[in-house]
Amino acid sequence: MEYVLETRALGKQYKSFRALHDLNMHIPKGAIYGFVGKNGAGKTTLIRVICGLQEPTAGSYSLYGCQNSSRNMAKMRRRMGAVVETPAIYPEMTARENLEQQYRVLGLPSMSGIDGLLKLVGLENTGRKKAGDFSLGMRQRLGIAVALCGGPDFLVLDEPVNGLDPEGIVEIRELILRLNRQEGITILISSHILDELSRLATHYGFIDGGTMVKELSAVELERLCRKAIHVKVSDTKALLRVADSLALPCELCGGMEADIYGEVTVTALVEALSREGCTLLSLTERDEGLESFYMNLLGGERHA
Ligand code: ATP
Repeated sequence: MEYVLETRALGKQYKSFRALHDLNMHIPKGAIYGFVGKNGAGKTTLIRVICGLQEPTAGSYSLYGCQNSSRNMAKMRRRMGAVVETPAIYPEMTARENLEQQYRVLGLPSMSGIDGLLKLVGLENTGRKKAGDFSLGMRQRLGIAVALCGGPDFLVLDEPVNGLDPEGIVEIRELILRLNRQEGITILISSHILDELSRLATHYGFIDGGTMVKELSAVELERLCRKAIHVKVSDTKALLRVADSLALPCELCGGMEADIYGEVTVTALVEALSREGCTLLSLTERDEGLESFYMNLLGGERHA
């Protein structure tokens, strides 16, 4: 697998406080990587380190295979755009002027990409309106457009939907999907809003206490979270025969218990078990989403 970003035992120590410890992260090319963790887990610190705003105190990372200690890192970092904490925009300037300013900062020879960028983020009709008078969602989209100047193929967004109203959230979601699917940009998003992340992410990384607790793809997560009924029966061999005859995937969980996946008709299941001389002792439904997966993994509060 080709990784845009890989960290190896990354650490960041602030005096006696260890904000990141032994952190291993793998962002595959083309992914929308959802970075999940509680307040203070270390998400922003990790983002600041990989953006070159802070130096790690242990371990290493590579961007497109280039080590952070390499001389080529500055060049490689130009392939990366980021919106960290608040968007880097000038409130007294219009959207276009903000982008022109960023083009100048980057020393880009031609301003010809600006129209396309404004259109891409849905700010092409904002005219003379100053960024300071934009809604939060518009400011966030302008921040993303600024990060896209120079045509990066890796975009890092720290809490991009924080504080946005539902309409603003949908606009950012559509923009992120467009950037990923149409422009082929790999995206790292940190977010507290698990429901929102689950609509976007192709991969997840769960951080706790500065350490990566688990990384997995959305496909793996879906498999772990798929709807199931958990049963306890008097005879698991009979259960497996019945599940087979009803074409229901069934996984034994130890003891006399099992998870059955798919659309289960309880009456048909009970009748079929009974024909095999097997008694259904208990049955509970399980429908785990990202939030309960997170809760089971890390415990704690309802929101990340
Ligand atoms: P949030 O969702 O609240 O932004 P986070 O996961 O982004 O949380 P970080 O901002 O990375 O968390 O902070 C991780 C820990 O490091 C926190 O306990 C924070 O207080 C601490 N920390 C961050 N910056 C510094 C600093 N400059 N000096 C000392 N401690 C710091």
